[in-house]
Amino acid sequence: MNSRHDVYLKEMGLGPRWRLRRAPLEDIPEVEREPDPVAVPPVVEAVPEPVRFSPPSAAIPIPPPTLESPSPAGLDWPALNAAIRACRACPLHKTRTQAVPGVGDMQAEWLFVGEAPGADEDVQGEPFVGQAGKLLDNMLAGIGLKRGEKVYIANVLKCRPPGNRNPEAGEVQCCEPFLVRQVELLQPKLIVALGKFAAQTLLGQEATIASLRGKVHQYRGIPLIVTYHPAYLLRNLPDKAKAWQDLCLAVKTRRALEEPA
Ligand code: SF4
Repeated sequence: MNSRHDVYLKEMGLGPRWRLRRAPLEDIPEVEREPDPVAVPPVVEAVPEPVRFSPPSAAIPIPPPTLESPSPAGLDWPALNAAIRACRACPLHKTRTQAVPGVGDMQAEWLFVGEAPGADEDVQGEPFVGQAGKLLDNMLAGIGLKRGEKVYIANVLKCRPPGNRNPEAGEVQCCEPFLVRQVELLQPKLIVALGKFAAQTLLGQEATIASLRGKVHQYRGIPLIVTYHPAYLLRNLPDKAKAWQDLCLAVKTRRALEEPA
């Protein structure tokens, strides 16, 4: 592990090179998928209403602001992406450059889920660009995967929190129906949660990432593996070895799904 770790550091200037010890995934057969649900509602109907706050009153105690979640159930991919781009359901729409729905193969077997768009993603409209994106691409290559081929990449939040602050609970709750619909459309074979925030959101628990790693969780009946966010790994190079272990667990889990019971 140390020699490979050192080679990667040398080649990328970051850390160990990601290499798959076993055969790459080309031999994993394509999976027949259910056809996408028919897009029923027109895009304009899918666009959520603007943020609605509880009306202030001098006589009645004012409850905390509530956000009205979008309702993307039943949307197909074009309608879903359009609904995300047009969404104004939470205050993040005021500070974003654009919403970032996701990128990749819409028949993907692998779904990678991060936290929220950063500054580069906000400008380019694609998740995981910049240095963290390059590292994620290297991580994918290490297990025989490639962005856009059997892989879809998305974030829990579709709009950038200003200043890259942590997402607020209300924002996450408001945006979650979009991710749920993405999972419904993809029906991925495996989900990889990138970072504590994505893991906690998908699993609905406030556990540490250390306690969530190394296990096969479930999200709506789909196996889910937890690993570190690439942006974190850029700042904490020694943990790349742990991330490699997580990816190996993901590959092992994915292969086990192909084996006859
Ligand atoms: S973060 Fe999600 S809920 Fe909030 S405006 Fe963007 S797409 Fe809509």
